[in-house]
Amino acid sequence: MSGGSGGGGGGGGLAGFVRGASVDAKTRARLADAVPEEFFTVPDGLTPRARQALTYERLRRAGLAAPPAADLLADPPALCALLDRAAVADPALFHVMLLHYTLALGPVLRFGADEPETRRIRGELESMAAFGTLLMTEVGRSNSHLSPRTLARHDPDGGGFVLTTPDARAAKFPTNTAHPDVPKTAAVYATLVHGGAERGVFVFAVPLRGGDGAVPPGVRVVPAPDTTGLPVDYAAVLLEDVRVPYGAWLRDGAAIDAAGEFHDPEGTAAARLTRSMGIAPRVWRAVVSASAAVTRAAAGTLLAHSAGRTTLGRLAPRRPLTDYNNQREAVLGALAAGYALTAVAAHATAPRPTPASGAGGPETAWAPWSAVDRDLALLKAAATTQAQETVSACRVHSGAPGFAAVERLNSYRGLTHAYTNAGGDNELILYDTARAMADLDRYVPPEARDVAPDADLDAPETWLALAGEAERRMRDRLADRVAAARRSGADAFTAWNGNLVLAARTAGACADRLVLEILAAAPAAAAPDARPLLRRVLGLHALNLLERRAADLLNEGAAPPGVLDRLWAARRRVCDELAPHAGELAAAFELPAAVTAPSAFLTAP
Ligand SMILES: Cc1cc2nc3c(=O)[nH]c(=O)nc-3n(C[C@H](O)[C@H](O)[C@H](O)COP(=O)(O)OP(=O)(O)OC[C@H]3O[C@@H](n4cnc5c(N)ncnc54)[C@H](O)[C@@H]3O)c2cc1C
Repeated sequence: MSGGSGGGGGGGGLAGFVRGASVDAKTRARLADAVPEEFFTVPDGLTPRARQALTYERLRRAGLAAPPAADLLADPPALCALLDRAAVADPALFHVMLLHYTLALGPVLRFGADEPETRRIRGELESMAAFGTLLMTEVGRSNSHLSPRTLARHDPDGGGFVLTTPDARAAKFPTNTAHPDVPKTAAVYATLVHGGAERGVFVFAVPLRGGDGAVPPGVRVVPAPDTTGLPVDYAAVLLEDVRVPYGAWLRDGAAIDAAGEFHDPEGTAAARLTRSMGIAPRVWRAVVSASAAVTRAAAGTLLAHSAGRTTLGRLAPRRPLTDYNNQREAVLGALAAGYALTAVAAHATAPRPTPASGAGGPETAWAPWSAVDRDLALLKAAATTQAQETVSACRVHSGAPGFAAVERLNSYRGLTHAYTNAGGDNELILYDTARAMADLDRYVPPEARDVAPDADLDAPETWLALAGEAERRMRDRLADRVAAARRSGADAFTAWNGNLVLAARTAGACADRLVLEILAAAPAAAAPDARPLLRRVLGLHALNLLERRAADLLNEGAAPPGVLDRLWAARRRVCDELAPHAGELAAAFELPAAVTAPSAFLTAP
């Protein structure tokens, strides 16, 4: 297996598939300039605060060099391309950039009215005079997104609002607000209380720290201890009767009139919550896309480590490492996951109708996410799970150099691991998806299909039939079990709590089937010369997905005993075919040299 660019057709076509057709070459070049190669390394010896300051300085430079924020937010593939490059360069930069654009500026642009305070805040964020931050999660209770205890009350005298953290358990955490010198403006999620009633969850734009480092009256920032997993300036924030003007309310058509009457076109507090969480799809697209980007980078890094490396094992001294099937299948499996997630990202970022508020997704019990957009939330969960697994495997298969000589794989692991919780907790998304599946709430199960025991595992019809059959049977059993528990008098908590393992696996099976549908359709979007190799490499990922799902396939009787042997044999065959193309597959990722170059430390220790 070679790490070079490899021969054969399809190289240009493969690169075109990875790049996608949505961002033109000029914009792509501008986005690359916004995150220059210099950003791919961090100087040694910085204190945590100096490291954080550098991240924000780079965010400022990137924001000023990139196209205007409003244009980026209106163009998901372009915003994702910028964020992808940041993720591959430095996951901490990706994290603060994502927060700034999608979670702070996003609600200002989407929900803000044309009022002086809103315009002022927008101007500061767009000019990078202040960095955007998100105050949504509260530290003391799980599922705090469903019902934030941070309160906003209208102040009839001043005309604005007073924001209050009722107690320490309602402190907003985590937030990236600790750095004492970096100006921050927050999108604060708070429950609006008016006329003695809760009116729903709204977003307020609140300056937290000025350019001089000063914190406004009532804002208390409690820095968290230094951490390394995704190194930013974490802090808890408490708001102690913080006064903001009326224009800080990103009111999205709601209003309090001169007589003090509250009006909201959304109608109910539940619909308002879903609407306020409607900023999430931009986050999910970016997280799916960045998951693909760091998976590609990790796969390229693993190939660079493995290609040309010899072994001293006594079975065959000096045999190349990639002649051993464990390493060969790890390298090619990682490349395949990179291609598969690229296809999923292209699907997630493609234009499609935004579900109307409250009508797009099913009712939810665990988190607001699936109500906003069930499939996109589910793809976010699937993509981060896959990226986390692949990046971790790349780290393990890169041995000590992958851990100790360069921080890159550890930092990708930190990012993908963090985003299994961040951006919508994966497990909660799975449970809400499973509940919608059981209730047939905007969900249609796959049709029943007979799969012959010797069905061709290279054929997309077979992948879809196997995955669909497992999903259908699991859904039916889940629905039956929950219904039976309810009939025998169990309350909703007890009925579901007894079935959470099956629920998570059922939703996971649905995610697999969605991904397999994307993989089956993806080669048609590639240049004809790239399609044969693309089919093979996406087919390898399909086999790996089915292997991961094998316990359920067997448990449900959707596949007979022996299916794992057949999957392993098919994978061995595909890997043998793909091995000579490994360099070509990695070259099409067009990774910056800084990502795959051996650590300077190792070349001259
Ligand atoms: C690196 C990082 C950065 C973040 N940045 C921000 C930020 O800038 N601003 C912000 O507002 N938030 C941020 N978050 C918070 C993120 O949104 C939450 O971590 C996430 O939603 C999970 O909530 P939680 O932390 O309260 O954990 P919990 O809700 O307590 O979850 C812990 C575990 O319990 C499980 N669980 C929770 N509730 C239930 C239930 N009802 N049933 C079954 N299982 C349950 C979950 O699946 C999870 O495994 C960040 C998170 C991370 C990891």
